[in-house]
Amino acid sequence: MTDSFEARGLREKLIESIRQKGISDEEVLRAMKKVPRHIFMDPAFLHHAYVDKAFPIASGQTISQPYTVAFQTSLLSVKKRDKVLEIGTGSGYQAAILAEMGVRVYTIERCRELFLKAQQTIATLGYNIHFFYGDGFEGKEQYGPYDGILITAAAPEIPPALLKQLKTGGRLVVPLGKGDYQVMTVAVRTGEETWEYSSHGTFVFVPLLRGTQEK
Ligand code: SAH
Repeated sequence: MTDSFEARGLREKLIESIRQKGISDEEVLRAMKKVPRHIFMDPAFLHHAYVDKAFPIASGQTISQPYTVAFQTSLLSVKKRDKVLEIGTGSGYQAAILAEMGVRVYTIERCRELFLKAQQTIATLGYNIHFFYGDGFEGKEQYGPYDGILITAAAPEIPPALLKQLKTGGRLVVPLGKGDYQVMTVAVRTGEETWEYSSHGTFVFVPLLRGTQEK
């Protein structure tokens, strides 16, 4: 299923509602108006794709709430040609938003079924994204260092390997916490061994898990 007039109309309304909720990064809003979110979900759920809610995908995982995608992407403060590593490809929607913004995207998924499906979806949209199957705790050192690292699952702590794969001045965005909710945290690498941290409200994510799985 490709994009449609109806989907574009629904998307326009959704993005305006996200703007009302305080997202002001025009480049983020533009990308979210462009990328058809329904293509990342089951085709039966067109209307669900354009309400501001997380939604189940395969393997007990979720496509993040649109507001959360907008918020995390805004916190990353990326510009065209920046190199970004995403941990938790899921449906591939967040990766598509970054690619639409002209970012060079590297994304890791631990569940093989999702890893395969996300690539198929992205192929229909034509974005050039680098997909990896594996455990994101270790990052992808060989393609780093990165201008930005985005973790889209709840991390009990920031994986140390990821902090090391940031460029100086680079930003890592992660929902941090072990409990029912997480604190959105930004770590900016300020030097070889120094990072500065800031907190940006609470969110609810599925957990970052160790190892890989087939389904
Ligand atoms: N960014 C996604 C939403 C992801 S939900 C989207 O736009 O749809 C979180 C994802 O992180 C799930 O798909 C889950 O399988 C994946 N995940 C959890 N732990 C991981 C790990 N250690 N490495 C890579 N992916 C992981």
